[in-house]
Amino acid sequence: MKPYRLIIFDRDGTLTYEEHNYHRDLSKVRPYPFVGGVLQRLAAEGVRLAVATNQSGIGRGLWSRAEVDELHNRLAKAWGVELTWHICPHLPGDGCDCRKPEAGLIRQSLSEYDCQPADALFIGDALTDAQAASSAGIDFALVLTGRGRAALPDIGGQAVVLDTLAQLENSRG
Ligand SMILES: [Zn+2]
Repeated sequence: MKPYRLIIFDRDGTLTYEEHNYHRDLSKVRPYPFVGGVLQRLAAEGVRLAVATNQSGIGRGLWSRAEVDELHNRLAKAWGVELTWHICPHLPGDGCDCRKPEAGLIRQSLSEYDCQPADALFIGDALTDAQAASSAGIDFALVLTGRGRAALPDIGGQAVVLDTLAQLENSRG
């Protein structure tokens, strides 16, 4: 894998366990144990880090944007890295241009870091993540955590596949 300037991550199923989706409680959101180490190594290499996540729970009124921001601050503090969070709060029927598979969140990240598409990678666990990356013109890597194994038949062969994020540094060689 080439040395990307910017790596953008999906959240649920990529950085954090999926199980909390069955609860209405953000305090149950837990990161995979390897995430902090991976992010810290990338940050030490000078890679910029961002997250692009659909959080329609905001649009549904399950929780507020402030509560989601608080969760993200807690995660970033635990991981000990600087992360830029790009969030789509909308519902599937809202017709926004940011909800993945649309490319809006990824374009926000590229713009924020003044990064060319060729220098950025998106990592996620779903077909909609791959589609968003493709629409934005950036490379994609699939993780097999979260919904990744279910997405593999639709994506396999067109993307780098990682068992978990923990493999990322190895791939970078
Ligand atoms: Zn949106």
